[in-house]
Amino acid sequence: MRVDRKTWDLIIVGAGPAGATAARHAARFGIETLVLERARFPRAKVCAGGVTAAALREIGLPFPPGLVEREGRRLRPRWGDFHLDLMTKDPYAVMVSRPRFDQHLLWAARQAGAEVREGVAVTGIALEGDRVVAVTSEKAHAARFVIGADGVRSRVARALRPDLGPAETGLCLAADLPTTPVQRRGLLEEGIEVRYGIPPRGYGWIFPKEGAVSVGVGAVRRGFRRPGIELVRFLNGSSLPPPGEAPGPEKGEKGWNLDLLRGRLRACLVPLGGLRRPVARDRVLLAGDAAGFADPFTGEGIRWACLSGRLAAEAVARGLRSGRPDRETTAYTEACRAEIDRDLAWARWLTRMFALAPPLASAFFFRRAELFEGLLDILRGRLTYRALVLSFPARLVRGRGSVPAGLPWGGRSG
Ligand SMILES: Cc1cc2nc3c(=O)[nH]c(=O)nc-3n(C[C@H](O)[C@H](O)[C@H](O)COP(=O)(O)OP(=O)(O)OC[C@H]3O[C@@H](n4cnc5c(N)ncnc54)[C@H](O)[C@@H]3O)c2cc1C
Repeated sequence: MRVDRKTWDLIIVGAGPAGATAARHAARFGIETLVLERARFPRAKVCAGGVTAAALREIGLPFPPGLVEREGRRLRPRWGDFHLDLMTKDPYAVMVSRPRFDQHLLWAARQAGAEVREGVAVTGIALEGDRVVAVTSEKAHAARFVIGADGVRSRVARALRPDLGPAETGLCLAADLPTTPVQRRGLLEEGIEVRYGIPPRGYGWIFPKEGAVSVGVGAVRRGFRRPGIELVRFLNGSSLPPPGEAPGPEKGEKGWNLDLLRGRLRACLVPLGGLRRPVARDRVLLAGDAAGFADPFTGEGIRWACLSGRLAAEAVARGLRSGRPDRETTAYTEACRAEIDRDLAWARWLTRMFALAPPLASAFFFRRAELFEGLLDILRGRLTYRALVLSFPARLVRGRGSVPAGLPWGGRSG
């Protein structure tokens, strides 16, 4: 394999939110950065496209007009026959189309000075003295550091750990569906509808978009059977009627079925964060899904991808200055633990509570809107899972039945 003569300061594998953000920061620090991306942008990405307020703050970029398709101010969580309807003044998220959003982040990386090569797949990496060689489908490139930001099935991560197993990943089945004005009559235009318990140990979602919706179901991959059937079950209990039918009392008899979704279904994995996985070694750092950073409770990954991308770029900048890569890979690991994994471990705890004791958890959460309000504050970056979970005992003592059943935002539905 021919190795290109130039040695870059940094090669980034993958140009999703993690790679593009790492590249933007690295280039701004004056680091000579090469991004190698398998696809050609704008590329499709299976995602509901919710960018939380915390993620927006981390990204810190202005968006071109039209990139934000909807703002999330309402949340309609459901579980069995419990439901809540929360309305907030400050948006907790915005809804975007991922191909356009990712292209914008990559444009910003190019503007900052990063060199981006699209249509180049990295097949493996190797350490050679004080540089790392990234082998691609065409030729090999060398750099002082490599950031693996190549998603949940990362090739680069194989240099550090085995592939993520079925207990460490969520399996999602999702679809973007165009909608008619009649179908949209009962939908939340300014927020998200989620239903816990369909599929078992997971949830289904509807995110509004411009003239379309993103729908899907997700659960821990181990034991998640018949995702297509679960998606149909979720849709039939949701406020989205199938094409040609109206919502509510006028709802038709036929309902959703797999034929109506044919050609639109996409399956994808999301890593379950909050586990201590290796994220850096020997001049190689992982970021985003490749590092396993997604919220196991909500599935949010963009915020953690952008944050870890920035932390990785900062570690590389220090490593290039000090000539001590070992010290900086350790510092990066510690920063990821402190700023990402430690709190996602609490999200993991919450997820387990939902999975292990559904009747208890549903009664607890759906009788206290303040807990979902706490979750919205987590999405805004104003609260941590740790603070939310540690407040449970006090809330239990203080707030028994604090939200009267049947009132606008509490209690059982129907
Ligand atoms: C169904 C679903 C819905 C989701 N909804 C949300 C949501 O609403 N909000 C949210 O915050 N998160 C959501 N997530 C999670 C989110 O999509 C990911 O966490 C996020 O995309 C991670 O970004 P990343 O840059 O690490 O990886 P990716 O976005 O996956 O980007 C990785 C890039 O690497 C490239 N690549 C892969 N292999 C190679 C290779 N060998 N060589 C070169 N390039 C390579 C890929 O082409 C890709 O462009 C969802 C996930 C799923 C599955």
